[in-house]
Amino acid sequence: MRTEGRRESGNIEDRRGMSPGKMAVGGGIGTIVIVLLVMLLGGDPSQVVNSLQEGPATESGPVSTSPEEEAMKDFVSKVLAGTEDVWSTVFRESNMTYKMPTLVLFRDQVQSACGYASGASGPFYCPGDEKVYIDLAFFDELKTRFGAYGDFAIAYVIAHEIGHHVQNQLGILSDVNNQRSRMSEVNANRLLVRLELQADFLAGMWAHYDEQMFHSLEAGDIDEAMNAAASVGDDVLQKRYQGRVIPDAFTHGTAAQRKEWFRRGYTSGDFDQGDTFNANIN
Ligand SMILES: [Zn+2]
Repeated sequence: MRTEGRRESGNIEDRRGMSPGKMAVGGGIGTIVIVLLVMLLGGDPSQVVNSLQEGPATESGPVSTSPEEEAMKDFVSKVLAGTEDVWSTVFRESNMTYKMPTLVLFRDQVQSACGYASGASGPFYCPGDEKVYIDLAFFDELKTRFGAYGDFAIAYVIAHEIGHHVQNQLGILSDVNNQRSRMSEVNANRLLVRLELQADFLAGMWAHYDEQMFHSLEAGDIDEAMNAAASVGDDVLQKRYQGRVIPDAFTHGTAAQRKEWFRRGYTSGDFDQGDTFNANIN
């Protein structure tokens, strides 16, 4: 993906220097315990309190990072900016206003309006606070664990999560969640698959417009995205982790379905082609 000279998003919230564990030390009981410990050991508690207040206990602490991780952050920021430009344009063409989401970078664990999450569960979107949560370590895993190589594999993952935000803006997410709450688990999972496949479609639609607006695609990019979509398909993940495939527990769609809906979004660039809820998805 060509990103030289492209703008970075201003909607990144960097919480990498702030783990929930450290936050707990920020005040209250954690601080009192440490102050008592320091007094027992003969130290000066006022110095500890000062250093705690300057450290990661406050808003966001200093981030220890590597040049590779910073390059990754820049890339994520540029992809996010691309989604902002694309969806603002697409919404405007339909006389709607796109409300830009925030992308939170975290390490290991994070607190969201949807609850507490660990980096191991992968990137997610929380409609409660309209934020996308990403642990950059997932992008290494995408290569090493899922075999999805290339920068456009990463762009696809971000665009998929942003797709959920688009669904939220359009009221689709709340509709689906309302319906699911009144269904059997099997049917609720089937509906969730359709929601996920539409997010893949929307990721493809983003790629379509990002290329049109910024000529960002390089040879192999679409293959990288489709390979990534396939490699995180439920059938692939379940085979890997459980040794067999259980279709009723599918919540994201099979490798073939995910690839197909990304492809449809990319080739059509037309939202009306992405009605995964009424389409024959098999
Ligand atoms: Zn999803």
